[in-house]
Amino acid sequence: MSETNIDVLVVGAGPVGLATGLFLGRHGVRALVAERHPGTTIYPRATGLAVRTREILREAGLAESVAAAGSAMASTGGKLIVDTLAGTDLATAKRIWPRQSEQAVTVEHSPTADVSGICPQDRLEPILLDAARAAGARVQFETELAGFDGGVATLRSPGGEQVVHPRYVVAADGAASGLRESLGIGTIGPGPLGGAVLSVLFEADLANLIRGHEFVVCEIGTPAAPGLLLAINNSDRWVFNISYDPDTASPADYPEQRCAELIRTAIGRPGLDVRVLARNPWVPSAFSAEAMRKDMVFLAGDAAHVMPPLGAYGLNTGIADAHNIAWKLAAVINGMAGPGLLDSYEQERLPVARFTVEQAMLCQRNPRLHWDLAGSMAEREQLGMADPQVVSAGYRYRSRAVAESHRELASLSDFAANVDGSPGGRVPHVRLARRGERLSTLDLCGRDFVLLGGASAHRWADAAAEAGRRLGMRVQAYQIGRGCPLVDLDGNWRQAAGISAEGAVLVRPDGFVAWRSTGRSPIPEQTLHDTLRTILDRS
Ligand SMILES: Cc1cc2nc3c(=O)[nH]c(=O)nc-3n(C[C@H](O)[C@H](O)[C@H](O)COP(=O)(O)OP(=O)(O)OC[C@H]3O[C@@H](n4cnc5c(N)ncnc54)[C@H](O)[C@@H]3O)c2cc1C
Repeated sequence: MSETNIDVLVVGAGPVGLATGLFLGRHGVRALVAERHPGTTIYPRATGLAVRTREILREAGLAESVAAAGSAMASTGGKLIVDTLAGTDLATAKRIWPRQSEQAVTVEHSPTADVSGICPQDRLEPILLDAARAAGARVQFETELAGFDGGVATLRSPGGEQVVHPRYVVAADGAASGLRESLGIGTIGPGPLGGAVLSVLFEADLANLIRGHEFVVCEIGTPAAPGLLLAINNSDRWVFNISYDPDTASPADYPEQRCAELIRTAIGRPGLDVRVLARNPWVPSAFSAEAMRKDMVFLAGDAAHVMPPLGAYGLNTGIADAHNIAWKLAAVINGMAGPGLLDSYEQERLPVARFTVEQAMLCQRNPRLHWDLAGSMAEREQLGMADPQVVSAGYRYRSRAVAESHRELASLSDFAANVDGSPGGRVPHVRLARRGERLSTLDLCGRDFVLLGGASAHRWADAAAEAGRRLGMRVQAYQIGRGCPLVDLDGNWRQAAGISAEGAVLVRPDGFVAWRSTGRSPIPEQTLHDTLRTILDRS
C-alpha cells in the first residue's frame, strides 16, 4: 500500500471537482482528483451555463471550446407544449420563449453576455478534464475515497489501496456526499420535493420532424406517455424525463423496452427507431449544507447545495464555489496568506448557496414567472424572485476577505445596480483597448491581486507595487482612462467602479472587489499594506 503527502485531495470528478483541479492548477497547486467512475459523465444533465460561469471559463481560456461543444443547441430556445410531437402542428403549437428583462446583462455588463450559454454537461466535463490535466491536476478515475479518518484518506482503485495525507480536501462528491455525511454535516431545506424522475438518454433521428421548430424543452401532454423531452443536439440525441411516484413505482418498473415504447408514444411515431443509451433516476430536491467547511475539508458543488433544475443554477453555483476556494487554498499553500483566509470560503459561499436554493425553489413553484421575465417583473418583485443574472453574478460577499462590504443587494432585478464597484461584488466589466487589442477589465484579473485605478491614480498604483513588495507578493496595478495605455472605450470606468480619477479598487484573484477608495489618500502605501495583510491573514 502506497502512502503519499499531497496539498489538496479533491473527491469527485464531476464538473465541480474537475473545475477545482483546473483552478488550483492555474494558481500553481497540483491537486489529486479522485473519481470512482471510469470516466466523465455520459448524462447531459446540466446544459445552461450562466453568465458568471461563462466568464470563469473564459478566464481559463475555454470560451471557444465550450461554445463549440454547445453549438448544436446554441441557436435554439424556448419551450414547446404539445400533445405528441408528431401529432401536433409544430408551426402553431404553443411555445414559450424565455423573455429577458430590460435590465438583463448586456455586452455593457459582461464580456460573455453575447456568448451562448448552452453546453451539455457530458460535453463540458471532457473539456474541464483536459484543461485540469494540462494545468497540472492528477485526475484518477476508478479511484474511490473508501475511508477518511483523522485527516487520512484511503483511496481504492483496481490497482489496490493508496493512503493519502492531504493538507486540504475539497469534497466535490455530489448530492449524496459521503464526506458530508461522515463529517456529520447536516442539511437545511425541504430535501426531496416529492415525486421522482427517470431521465432516459436516447438516440432517435427526429431531425426532419422538428427542423425549423427547434426547442430546448418540449412538454408532452399525451396521457399515455406524458413527460419532458429535452433537446441535446436537436437532431438525434435526446433525453426524455418520465415522472413517477416513488411510493408506488421504481426505476425497475421502467426497463429499456418500456422506456422505448413510452418515447415512441410521446413522439407519436409507433415505428420510430429508438435506442435507449442510459437511464438515470433522480429525485428533485432542495437543500444546502449546514456548513461548507469542517476543519481541513471544504464542501463544494452539489455536496454543499442541491436545487431543482428550473433556473439551471446547480452546476453554475458549484463552478463558482470551485473558483472561490481555489485561489484561497493556493494562497495559503503557497505561503501568501495565513489559514484565516480560508474562513472566508464559508462566510462567502454559504449565503450564496442559501440564496440560490431559495431562488431555484421560487422558479420551481412559479414556472411561468421563470420563463417570462419581461412580462412578470412586478409579480416577480413581489415574490422576491431575482433576475437569473443577479443570482449568477450579482451577489455580494461579506467576509474577512472583503473590506467594508454590504451584503444587501441593491436590486433583485437590475444586475448593473449590484455590480457597481462596491467591495464584495464582481468587478464591473468595462470595455478597454490596449495597443489595438480589445479586452475587458475582467481580463486584467484572475491570477494575482490587481489594483484598477482612474487615470490619475498614480499614487495608488505606486502604493500597490510597494505593498506587494513588502508582503512578498505580486500586486498588478493598472490605470484606466485618458492618457493611459489602457483606453476606456466607452468612457465609463470611473462611473462603473464608483471612483474618481484618483480613486482605485483592489480586486482579488477571483475577480471580486476586495477594497475601494473613491479618491486619494494621504497614506496610500500603509492603507493598501494593511488592507492586504488583513484580507490575507498576514497579521
Ligand atoms: C436531470 C438533471 C438536470 C440538470 N440540469 C441542470 C442545468 O440545466 N443547469 C445546472 O446548472 N445544473 C443542472 N443540474 C444539476 C447539475 O447536474 C449538478 O449541479 C452538477 O452535476 C453538480 O456537479 P458536482 O461536481 O458538484 O456533482 P456531481 O456531478 O454529482 O459529481 C460528483 C462526483 O463525485 C463522485 N463521487 C462521489 N463519491 C465519491 C467517492 N467516495 N470517491 C470518488 N468519487 C466519488 C461521483 O461519482 C461523481 O462523479 C441538473 C441535474 C440533473 C439530475
